[in-house]
Amino acid sequence: MISNASKMATDSPRSPSLWVPKTVVIRKITPEVENVATYHLAFTDADAAASYRFKPGQFNMLYMPGVGESAISISGDPESPELLDHTIRVAGNVTRGLTQLKPGDTLGLRGPFGSSWPMGQCVGRDVLLVTGGIGLPPLRPAIYQLLKRRQDFGNLHLLYGARSPDVLLHQNEFDDWKRSGLTIQKTVDRSVFGWKGNVGVVTLLLERLHSFDPSNTVLFCCGPEVMMRFVARTAFDRGLTAEQIWVSTERNMQCAVGLCGHCQLGPQFICKDGPVFRYDQIAPLLTVEGL
Ligand SMILES: Cc1cc2nc3c(=O)[nH]c(=O)nc-3n(C[C@H](O)[C@H](O)[C@H](O)COP(=O)(O)OP(=O)(O)OC[C@H]3O[C@@H](n4cnc5c(N)ncnc54)[C@H](O)[C@@H]3O)c2cc1C
Repeated sequence: MISNASKMATDSPRSPSLWVPKTVVIRKITPEVENVATYHLAFTDADAAASYRFKPGQFNMLYMPGVGESAISISGDPESPELLDHTIRVAGNVTRGLTQLKPGDTLGLRGPFGSSWPMGQCVGRDVLLVTGGIGLPPLRPAIYQLLKRRQDFGNLHLLYGARSPDVLLHQNEFDDWKRSGLTIQKTVDRSVFGWKGNVGVVTLLLERLHSFDPSNTVLFCCGPEVMMRFVARTAFDRGLTAEQIWVSTERNMQCAVGLCGHCQLGPQFICKDGPVFRYDQIAPLLTVEGL
């Protein structure tokens, strides 16, 4: 059977299957931190549910009838696609509209779209996951995959920064992840009473990190573009090359199939060539503003 992800990749951008949203029902909503919640979605159609597959780093277009569509990364486990997690921060019309919904309500979903974290590159190597704020959810599917096959990889490190301790996401899973073999270091820009952890930008954690071999490491980074540029610079100082670094980029997205050009950056369409790029392929374009 051809999976949804590979079928999407072979469909012409004009194929109706890419444009027509399928109906999903909200099974559960998990509040995460202020203005961020995870929506657990399931297809109402059994065939759609059976054929849907996604890879870590890919995204869906979520459609709220009468309001609009937004690109949202899939934040759940690729091996449990029957419940599709999307961790969403309130930004504008669609994401604010979602806060009015409750379990049992329905949405439209198109996807999955885009490139994925190159999990094959991690085999036999140390893996650094460097992220900030709402950048953790797009890496979460990669974390699940790495930890399920823990023995295939070297040292696994998550370096996670946020504005303040109260906006660190998915902390209820950190103990499980640590027990499964992921080293986690957190840092915040602003400390609060009782915080005993690191204070400062996430690049400080990368500067101080031990127990990885720069010549045999891959680094995945997701967060604000300025953060990703500084992370890459620090990674170079630590001995990594641009070919060892992957970043996930965001631009205002409309069609998601490489036709409308809203997300175009030079020759690259973020929706179909990205959102995950090897750093040398996207670095010169990262300072270009979106539409
Ligand atoms: C590939 C991809 C994956 C994404 N994954 C997630 C995710 O997992 N969780 C999440 O909360 N959000 C994610 N986003 C961002 C999300 O798509 C935007 O926040 C989206 O605009 C929300 O729709 P809206 O209608 O609520 O807000 P809108 O009304 O579209 O936008 C609100 C404001 O944000 C600006 N804006 C729109 N898109 C972007 C953007 N990409 N970057 C910066 N500013 C923007 C608009 O100009 C406007 O000022 C992702 C975006 C992309 C491209």
